[in-house]
Amino acid sequence: MQQSIDTYNFAGKRAIIRVDFNVPLDGDFNVTDDTRIRAAIPTIKKVLAGGGAVILMSHLGRPKGVEDKYSLKHIIPTVEKLLGQQIDFAGDCMGADAAAKAAALTPGEVLLLENLRYYAEEEGKPRGLKEEATDEEKAAAKKAVKESQKEFTKKLASYADVYINDAFGTAHRAHASTALIAAFFPNDKMFGYIMEGELKAIDSVLQAPQKPFTAILGGSKVSTKITIIESLMEKVDNLILGGGMTYTFMAAQGGKIGKSICEKDQFDTALAIIEKAKKLGVNLVLADDARCGDDFSNAANVKICPANDIPDSWEGMDIGPKTEEKFRKVIENSKTILWNGPVGVFEFDIFSNGSRAIAEAIVAATAKGAYSLIGGGDSVACINKFGMAKQVSYVSTGGGALLEYMEGKVLPGVAAIRE
Ligand code: AMP
Repeated sequence: MQQSIDTYNFAGKRAIIRVDFNVPLDGDFNVTDDTRIRAAIPTIKKVLAGGGAVILMSHLGRPKGVEDKYSLKHIIPTVEKLLGQQIDFAGDCMGADAAAKAAALTPGEVLLLENLRYYAEEEGKPRGLKEEATDEEKAAAKKAVKESQKEFTKKLASYADVYINDAFGTAHRAHASTALIAAFFPNDKMFGYIMEGELKAIDSVLQAPQKPFTAILGGSKVSTKITIIESLMEKVDNLILGGGMTYTFMAAQGGKIGKSICEKDQFDTALAIIEKAKKLGVNLVLADDARCGDDFSNAANVKICPANDIPDSWEGMDIGPKTEEKFRKVIENSKTILWNGPVGVFEFDIFSNGSRAIAEAIVAATAKGAYSLIGGGDSVACINKFGMAKQVSYVSTGGGALLEYMEGKVLPGVAAIRE
């Protein structure tokens, strides 16, 4: 049965918390962006304030085994600073040391375990398989790691009385620490505050959105967004499509797109989306004009062209001013807004106007009472670049997990707690 972190009695209990401490480090192993650690502090403090002790577990990077540069020991000073207390560290999450330290924890104490991904069992994927391995060898290796994954998970679970999942970024993975471990805590499992906040934000958008509901989808390719486009079409009033996708839509309808990014194998998909929008009565909003460059760089020459009439040596890099206004009007009249993916190559300042206009319109709509959710890696980088993250309703940390949840997929990390 799922518990609530707000009402659970942590007194005298040891809680193992799956956090997302997968933070960027510089060459001297300093944490260069502590957002994820900062975000986990309220959950940790809640357990400690309730008289519990905390065991923190996370992955860092993609180690192939034990690799010092991926050691979580590097982040200890940052965790201690943000938490305001000293923490202990177990240099092997499966070692005798980890078990002994976990057993000796007293209320108010915190133990951090070494990188879970030092072990292949965390992800349950075999490592070191030779390219030339036969299908049988691959199957045997997979079976072996799945077997040892059970022991790995059981050992992690043995350290604690309660399991808390607060790592939304990995909730779409059925790993030992994100999903499988929950089975060992049938009556003592719950979400942390990050997970709760993320799920609440997405559910409030998808389950009973106030109308008009507008989704803005950008990014480079139709192929990576097709599932989300299709699932959102069932729910939204307005679907704004921008970014590199634009040119596949233009070319599919016979437009001239110069050297803009284009997926010829997605023409049928693009035409089917246009048809489906008509059938469902969804207002599909595409670009009219494009800010084009003669080079994929911040030093390119720029000119505005119709989005479906771009000269041969030019490339659509951002939406044009007319399109900005058209998108802006739709967004400002919306009551629920979801934004995933920049509408231009915002990394280059000269092609960031369109995405900035979107961000400004979302901020204006939010100020008038709309609910706005920004999610997916690049849109978050985008809203942060413009310094507007605090002026929207919710900025998701989710990335892949957010997209899969919005597509209607069951996230293993979520299901494991709710089941
Ligand atoms: P995605 O990860 O699919 O959301 O794509 C985000 C990327 O799309 C960003 O890095 C943008 O630079 C890129 N992007 C946006 N608009 C365009 C465009 N018109 N041409 C090429 N890339 C684009």
